Amino acid sequence: MYEIALVDVPEFTNRPRKYAPAIITIHATRGHTSMELQDESVINWFSNTPDRGGWGATADFLVSSDGVITQFRDINAHYGAFAAGYGQYGSSREYAVDEHAISIEIAQPAYNRGEQPPMFTSASLEAAAWLTRRLSDIHDIPLLKIPFWHQLRNRPVPHGLLGHEDTANGKRLGKHDPGPAFDWDSFLQMCRNAYVEPLTKADMAKAFTALYFGHYPGVHVKWGDARVRDDGWTERLLLTKGL
Ligand SMILES: [Zn+2]
Repeated sequence: MYEIALVDVPEFTNRPRKYAPAIITIHATRGHTSMELQDESVINWFSNTPDRGGWGATADFLVSSDGVITQFRDINAHYGAFAAGYGQYGSSREYAVDEHAISIEIAQPAYNRGEQPPMFTSASLEAAAWLTRRLSDIHDIPLLKIPFWHQLRNRPVPHGLLGHEDTANGKRLGKHDPGPAFDWDSFLQMCRNAYVEPLTKADMAKAFTALYFGHYPGVHVKWGDARVRDDGWTERLLLTKGL
């Protein structure tokens, strides 16, 4: 059982989520600092993102080297994270990765080309596997590796897990995360074996309010009354979800 820490960030994107998540995208933090300081540097970076016309650098989740899970939320709580955008064609022909994905950043320091990539810690992999399994259960995302996503609007959206490097966006930007140190077969096995507690209505409400408010095509979410929590977040209770 993992607790998930919430961190407010000033800016996700200016685009509300419109679709139910179909994909879990795995990223590596690659900050220029030690393994132990990866989470701190990411939290600082996301918290101090300058205004980029509505495109902030963020992710939905961060897993530290010692297995602490952090969830980032826009202060307005209804915009999607921006961990990966378009490929080479842009919005007219492609989906941004994050339109359909939940993003997880896992701690791994930056390394130079030609160097051996630093290993992910087992604590981070175990926590990421638990989180992935949890998200997979909540959002009905199969624990399967998608080889590559073209992001094309005229093609069906795949359902499953993929790396940032396995997207048109990653290809365009030369991204290589999570890279060769990430063993997909063993990670998928860890996800299948992860012990997850049965989902409660409160879990579902938390998951949905954190990811998106409002409605989107094909999914009907019925919300109860909004309430303001002690920590200032507005939370709406999820009553039912129908697909
Ligand atoms: Zn990435």
